[in-house]
Amino acid sequence: MESLKLKRKLLYLLISVAIGLLVVGFVGYFNLQTMKKNVDTFYFGSLIPLTELTSINTAYHHELESSIYRWREKVLSDEELARDLTLGLENIDQMWASYLSHHKSPEEIPYISYTDGQIDIMKRYFEEIRSLATAHTQASAVSLITLSDNITTIHNTISQLISYEIAVAKYEHSITLAHHQNSLMQLAMMLSVILLCVMAFAWRIFMKIEQQQQQLLNSSQALKHLNIKLEQASYTDTLTGIFNRRYFNLVYEREFKRAARSEKPITFIMVDIDYFKPYNDTYGHLQGDIALKNVANVLRTSLLRPGDFAFRLGGEEFGIILTDTDFENARQMAERLRFNVESLNMEHKGNKNSGIVTISLGGICITPTISMGNEALLHTADVNLYAAKERGRNQVVFTTTL
Ligand code: GH3
Ligand code: MG
Ligand code: MG
Repeated sequence: MESLKLKRKLLYLLISVAIGLLVVGFVGYFNLQTMKKNVDTFYFGSLIPLTELTSINTAYHHELESSIYRWREKVLSDEELARDLTLGLENIDQMWASYLSHHKSPEEIPYISYTDGQIDIMKRYFEEIRSLATAHTQASAVSLITLSDNITTIHNTISQLISYEIAVAKYEHSITLAHHQNSLMQLAMMLSVILLCVMAFAWRIFMKIEQQQQQLLNSSQALKHLNIKLEQASYTDTLTGIFNRRYFNLVYEREFKRAARSEKPITFIMVDIDYFKPYNDTYGHLQGDIALKNVANVLRTSLLRPGDFAFRLGGEEFGIILTDTDFENARQMAERLRFNVESLNMEHKGNKNSGIVTISLGGICITPTISMGNEALLHTADVNLYAAKERGRNQVVFTTTL
């Protein structure tokens, strides 16, 4: 369920990144288009017209004015002047028409109309001179002062238009720059927003993963604890809290083999509470349970070494395993167990011998061999216990042979 949520979150993240990039792409595309339009306006609206206007100025100087001077100096004939003037005027007409064909802003119109009028006046002026040349009139009839004045006038008019075009070009350049700046800012803003969103999303997903990992860790630890408890429970006798028969089977087999391998002695002691049936009959089953617990507790606390174990084998019977302990010490331990239970001094009217709760113990201490078989040890301990009962109870019978 949680991993499904995580997958959905990852999907949202991918979708939002894709949408963000798409938006950035669209905005970038429109900005590029606008910039192209700006560059076009700049190029065709200002730069090309500028060159055309400069060429018109040059044409007035080099094609028309200088031809008239050369005609006056008789370098050119009347026909040659007429032809040069026709060509020059046609050239100027063409360039002016081309200049007019470009996009013009409403602010430019008054300048252009004025210049157009001036070009028209100049055209009529040069056509007049051409008529004079065609009629073979004396060249001196053409006033050089008027020519110079006219050329200066048209030059100034066109130069004014050029200045205006340069001003417009500067203005458009500044607009293009501003737009460029704006686009960059927009892009930076959008990328920052996308980045922030992605980081926020990623952070949330990361935190969720961490949280899940922690939950997993906690539940696996809880499971571990539960397993340990379960294992302990399966090895523990529920009434007395000491090890049970199941664990006895395990430990006994393991320790028997270990002793056989290492050729060290192993001790098994069978313990049985004396006259326990009468105890139950006298004090009730519940009190019987308490007595069982007390005896078990004495057995458990009397064993001090890690290699010594106490088990409840069933009913009021207990088993003791002592590892790596010699006969004398083992026998003394059995005697101490008997003494410690006796020292509890629990009243037991049904025990005719002593009037208190006592135990009988049958023990065997032997250095085993594998071929011996571990059942023999249990059997001997049982026989010894029976002997202890026979001899009057509350005593230890201990042997070193099977
Ligand atoms: P002996 O001295 O020969 O051992 O006599 P005994 O009465 O102890 O022997 P017996 O085997 O006849 O009786 C054992 C009694 O232990 C019978 C049963 O009521 C009692 N007993 C077995 N398990 C439990 C238990 O879990 N709780 C209680 N209260 N009594 C139990
Ligand atoms: Mg018994
Ligand atoms: Mg008994």
